[in-house]
Amino acid sequence: MLKKPTSAYVHIPFCTQICYYCDFSKVFIKNQPVDAYLQALIREIELADTGKLRTLYIGGGTPTAITAEQLDYLLTHLEKILDLSQVEEYTIEANPGDLSPEKIAVLQKSRVNRVSLGVQTFNDKHLKRIGRSHNEAQIYDNIAALKQAGFDNISIDLIYALPGQTMEDVRENVAKALALDIPHLSLYSLILEHHTVFMNKMRRGKLNLPTEDLEAEMFDYIIAELEKNGFEHYEISNFTKPTMESRHNLMYWDNDEYYGFGAGASGYVDGVRYRNRGPIQHYLKAITEEGHARLSEEFLTKREMMEEEFFLGLRKKSGVSIARFEKKFQENFDGLYGEAVKELLADGLVQITDGRLRMTKKGLFLGDTVAEKFILEV
Ligand code: SF4
Repeated sequence: MLKKPTSAYVHIPFCTQICYYCDFSKVFIKNQPVDAYLQALIREIELADTGKLRTLYIGGGTPTAITAEQLDYLLTHLEKILDLSQVEEYTIEANPGDLSPEKIAVLQKSRVNRVSLGVQTFNDKHLKRIGRSHNEAQIYDNIAALKQAGFDNISIDLIYALPGQTMEDVRENVAKALALDIPHLSLYSLILEHHTVFMNKMRRGKLNLPTEDLEAEMFDYIIAELEKNGFEHYEISNFTKPTMESRHNLMYWDNDEYYGFGAGASGYVDGVRYRNRGPIQHYLKAITEEGHARLSEEFLTKREMMEEEFFLGLRKKSGVSIARFEKKFQENFDGLYGEAVKELLADGLVQITDGRLRMTKKGLFLGDTVAEKFILEV
């Protein structure tokens, strides 16, 4: 084994609602074998022989969809079997509608030190329209209760370019997010995924999405307004008050390795990107019989690793360090990408400052289109 990863992702695939836009690995929680799942998850992690962790992230699905007792079981066992003595950031995702006082009490006595809340929008009408079961009042109640319980590292997710959403709606959402006085915000534009209620509606011409121009205007407004209010736009979709970046997510964008545990979870260990079996019963069977649930493994070639370095690294405002790239891959940056970079510079999509290649604002909006220039011809 090479150097052990210092980050881990733990997947809880249950939800109390199924949102109309979601294509994550998840199931409706009713009648699911949640206890058996949690036991299998703990077993998988126990057998993985992990080392000291620096970041731990429990995501979903919805980790807070399980009961307070089940949450307690999960967190207590994670703390027993993982070495969290040097953990810097330990995040749990939560949905406003699910976060009861009992669950907050469980979080409070655990080592969790960051909560990421799936707010999506403050507008009750829009929440209904996207299939969420919480409402605006619950968002405020939850944030107040979390702060009261001592959690100051809180992040919320918001989605913009929702069906029927206007610029005025976006302004209102941003203002309400700022008023929460929390240190981290993630804002994603709605992406239509296959096999979702929204994609179905779209095909039938029943989804009134904002135009691309309006979406760009919304993105511009969000960046300007948040920067004006002391947030740094440190990744395409993420904004932070000084020093409050998500360390776990930075690990992904730095293209570092991590364990992925749970049904449908992905991981990256020893140069191999792997994915676990998704359906709960398949996952349970695999853990019982084999002690792991890997469905697919992809050993990355050096070329693929270099491509990923750009796809992930260029998402960050700090971009990709050219010296780090050359040292990591023992390659000459200019020799490989000189031409591509020249074109991107001429189009105003990237810039090079302090030895780092970064996207400009224009480049950030185009995202992966810029990163694609770093795919090497075979
Ligand atoms: S968006 Fe989150 S809460 Fe909604 S169905 Fe997907 S995983 Fe569950």
